[in-house]
Amino acid sequence: MASRAAVEKWLAELTHLPTASGMEDAVIGWVERWVSRRNDLKLSRDSGGNILITQKGRKKYSPVLAVAHMDHPAFVITAVEGHNASYEFRGGVNPEYFENARIEVVSRGGGTGTLTSYDPSSDTGTARIRGDVRVGDIAMWKMRKPRPRKDIFAAPACDDLAGCAAVLAALDRMRGKPELRHFGVMLTRAEEVGLIGALHAAKLQTIPVDTRILSIETSRALPTAPIGAGPVIRTGDRSTVFDRELTNRISRAAEAAGLRHQRKLMDGGGCEATAFGAFGYQTAALCVPLGYHHNRGNLDEFEEGLAAPVPMYEEISLSDFHGLIDLVVIAAGAVEIEDPILGSLNRLYESHSHYLS
Ligand SMILES: [Zn+2]
Repeated sequence: MASRAAVEKWLAELTHLPTASGMEDAVIGWVERWVSRRNDLKLSRDSGGNILITQKGRKKYSPVLAVAHMDHPAFVITAVEGHNASYEFRGGVNPEYFENARIEVVSRGGGTGTLTSYDPSSDTGTARIRGDVRVGDIAMWKMRKPRPRKDIFAAPACDDLAGCAAVLAALDRMRGKPELRHFGVMLTRAEEVGLIGALHAAKLQTIPVDTRILSIETSRALPTAPIGAGPVIRTGDRSTVFDRELTNRISRAAEAAGLRHQRKLMDGGGCEATAFGAFGYQTAALCVPLGYHHNRGNLDEFEEGLAAPVPMYEEISLSDFHGLIDLVVIAAGAVEIEDPILGSLNRLYESHSHYLS
């Protein structure tokens, strides 16, 4: 089993890679190298370029896939002329964060720029550039790093590269356990522009219809779901709720295992469980609370009109992150355990129905 330090190294590497919707190549390369060192795993790609990693050998149950996305909100340079560039922003961030903001190329050692315009209706704009900036470059905000604090991990792209690290760590831990051989991982593309990779997989059924989906995310921390209070069994997102039975099974198993966790509606954003659930897959969702969601520093204060919008590294709690790995492992085993709630309600009714007579 990989040590905590090894898993944290994967986390640090993945969350610092350049990535954007449709341009996840650096992450895909990292994952391919990771899988190539484990010959009991098999990597394939579906027709949308989503990555599927499964365990070799006979499986006792139908598949359970933990799904995380490989992209993160970023700028993609679309034209360069002299000291001016045009860009497309792939992701969702309030327009105020674009005003005179500074960006830097991250896909290779490159130049920097200052935004001169942004049109929220098309997610495009222009920038004044310095140094080497080329068409096809991925750029990010020039971001402030938060001061180091105990248990806090900060990086440019926790959403959802921390999710990718967590599902790979969970898979790594399940290797060599025949009863968990049905567990695999799907790493998707283009989530930040509308769950597109997940929609492709769900709509075209690039994975078997009897697959149970665990959508793994970092999700905006809420006053009721703070950073550091444990990983979250997510009952729903901004647009819908998730599978009752699967969620109940995971919740009971997490309680039985004594795992510190939260059970919450995380409605600060959407997640891929919505896509899979809508197309008929039995789907639950797990996440860790995320600070500075989409690199929006001062987010809560900014929304209340109390502070300026400043681009920042995203933050999660390391103990939440390790808890999420534990929770994914627990969930993979729990999907086959009958939800006891109907039985206990029946017993309750039988013993107490005399109150109605
Ligand atoms: Zn996101």
